[in-house]
Amino acid sequence: MKSFFRMFVLSALLVFVMWGAGYAAEPQISVALAQNISSCTIKASSLTFYDASGKQVNAKGTITVKSGGGSKVIVGGKTLSLPVTVKSNKGLLYFDDRPYRGILMLIHSNNSFTAVNKLSIDDYVKGILKMEVNPNWPTEVLRAQAITARTYALAERGRHGNAGFDLCNTDHCIPYRGVNAEDPILTKAVESTKGMVLYYQGKLALTFFHSDSGGYTSDVQSVWGSDIPYLKPVQEPFSYQSPYTSWSFEISGEEIGKRLSRAGINVGTVYEINTVKLGPGDRVELIEVVGSNGRKTIKSHDLRMALGAKELKSTIFTVSADGTSALSARNIAESQPKNEESAGSTLIALTQEGAFTTDELLDMLLHPEKKEEYLQKALARKGKSAASPRPQQKKDPKLLWPQWDSPAENSAKPGGARGSVFVFQGRGWGHGVGMSQWGAKAMAEKGWTAEKIVKYYYPGTELRRIY
Ligand SMILES: [Zn+2]
Repeated sequence: MKSFFRMFVLSALLVFVMWGAGYAAEPQISVALAQNISSCTIKASSLTFYDASGKQVNAKGTITVKSGGGSKVIVGGKTLSLPVTVKSNKGLLYFDDRPYRGILMLIHSNNSFTAVNKLSIDDYVKGILKMEVNPNWPTEVLRAQAITARTYALAERGRHGNAGFDLCNTDHCIPYRGVNAEDPILTKAVESTKGMVLYYQGKLALTFFHSDSGGYTSDVQSVWGSDIPYLKPVQEPFSYQSPYTSWSFEISGEEIGKRLSRAGINVGTVYEINTVKLGPGDRVELIEVVGSNGRKTIKSHDLRMALGAKELKSTIFTVSADGTSALSARNIAESQPKNEESAGSTLIALTQEGAFTTDELLDMLLHPEKKEEYLQKALARKGKSAASPRPQQKKDPKLLWPQWDSPAENSAKPGGARGSVFVFQGRGWGHGVGMSQWGAKAMAEKGWTAEKIVKYYYPGTELRRIY
C-alpha cells in the first residue's frame, strides 16, 4: 500500500512537472492509405466499426468493405454511413494485409471512399524513417532525421484538409508504410527525440529535407518561390561520397519538348539549352530552353519536374549536346588556350559587338582552329564599315534560331549547349532544400550531434520539446 501511495505521488509529481514545463499531449496525425477506392479488407482478432449514424458493428478476422454508393459502405453485409471509424480491440489493425497502429477512418470521396490511418505523431514517424535513412547509419543522423520528419509532418498537418485528412502516404507528402516499415533502431531514434521539433519565430519550421545536396543546399525561393530565412543555401562542411555524387542523364531534344509540353511549356522540339542563372555551389537556378516553337526561361526546378525528378536527379548540372556548341562569348573565350588570351578578349569584344553571324559563331565552336581566320575577317569587315553586321536571319526562322537574339545578349549567359541529344551531368539528388541526408550522415560520422546538424541546415531555428 505504501509503495502504491509512493507511485501515486511520483506520477502526480511527474504530471505536474510536465504541465509546468508546458508539455502538451502528443499530437495525432491522419494519413491516407488508399484514396477513392471501391473495396478493401480490414483485419484484427476483434474489431468494432462505428458509423456516422451511431450504428456499431462488431467483427472478427478479415472483413471486406465495399462501397455502397454515395456515402454508404457495406461491411460484412451491413450498410454503414460514412464516415466510419474502425478500432481494433486487441492487437494491430490490418488494412489490405498491412499492419498499422492507431485507428482507421473510412471517409466519403468521389462516390467511393478513402481509408485514413489516424495515429500519434511518433508512431507515424516510426513508419516513415526507413524510407529516408538507413538504420545502419550513425545514431545522430537518425535522430536528426526523426526531428526533421516530425517537425515537417506537424507543420504540414492539414495539407490535404479539403480531402479530410492531413497527409498522403506518397512522395507528395512523405512515404509512409506503417508497422511493416518499422525498425527497432529507428524506433529508438524516435523515442530518444520524443517531442523535439524545430521552431522559427514562434512557429513550427518547414523542415524540408532531401537525399544529397551535392555540397551546397538550395535557396527555397529558387525552388518553390517563397522566401524563408532558414531555407537559404548553406555549404556543407565536409565532402562525402553517396550513390548520387556523380550522375548523367541523356535525353533527345524531341523528348524534352514532349515532356515540357506535358508540363504546359510549349517550345516544341528543343535544340538549345542555356543556363541563365547559377546560384551558390553552381546550382542552376534559371534555364532557357529554345525549341522549334520558341524559347522560354524557366526555373531549373521546373525543368527537373517536367523531365522527371528521378532522371534529372538534381539542379546541380552542366548540359552538353551532340556536337556541343555553346554559343556564349564566355564559352568561346574559355575554349581559348591561355597564350591566346589577348586574341580571346578581342574575340569576345567582337562577339559582343555582334560582329559575327550565327553560322560563324557555330562554325568557330565546332572548329576552334578557324577562330583566327574569323577574327581576321571580322577585323577587316570592321575596318570597311562602322556598322556591325547583325546575325543573318534564316528565311524560315523555324529552321534555325526562331527568335534569335543578338550574340551580345547571348554573351551574358553562363553557358549552354545546342544539338539534338542532350547530356546532363550532375551531382546530388533531390530539390536540395534544407537537410541533406547524406550530408548529415557525414556530419554524424565526424561526431556532430543531431542538434548541431539540424541547426546547421536550418540556421536561426530553435529546438524545442513540445510533448
Ligand atoms: Zn500529399
